[in-house]
Amino acid sequence: MPPLPDDPIDALLTAHGLRRTQAVRQVLRWLLAHPDISYTHAQLRLALQDAAAQGLDRVTLYRLIDRLTQVGLLLCRVDVNRVRRYQAMPASVQAIPHFECRSCQKDSPLAGALKASSRDLERAARTAIETLQALGYTGLSMDVAVRGICRECATGAQ
Ligand SMILES: [Zn+2]
Repeated sequence: MPPLPDDPIDALLTAHGLRRTQAVRQVLRWLLAHPDISYTHAQLRLALQDAAAQGLDRVTLYRLIDRLTQVGLLLCRVDVNRVRRYQAMPASVQAIPHFECRSCQKDSPLAGALKASSRDLERAARTAIETLQALGYTGLSMDVAVRGICRECATGAQ
């Protein structure tokens, strides 16, 4: 086992087989620090120019973003204007709270029923996964399930 890098960003890059260059660190650090924002290429370039004195040239930035997306560290979405937007891969994608009914065996997402608590659960799951990733764990996924009897079964209103 090679010694784990101290920096969680370096740990992530190593875990995904990426070279730890200054530029890629900068990009990933920024996106992880702003996990709820999805950026276009241009917006990200602007943000990074403000954040750090050393401006990345456009081609290098595009390549880095592609690479980070390929290895699953970034999520790429196409917006209504068909522009690609990138954000740090939300670990919550793997941990949507859901409910399993012991009576009818139905499995349903809980976001609607839980409202804000659902976001809290997802956030907690994301934090836990990111913490483990930083420690060198890979291939993580998490299951947030609540088990019991659903409302329909409980009231016999099927
Ligand atoms: Zn049920």
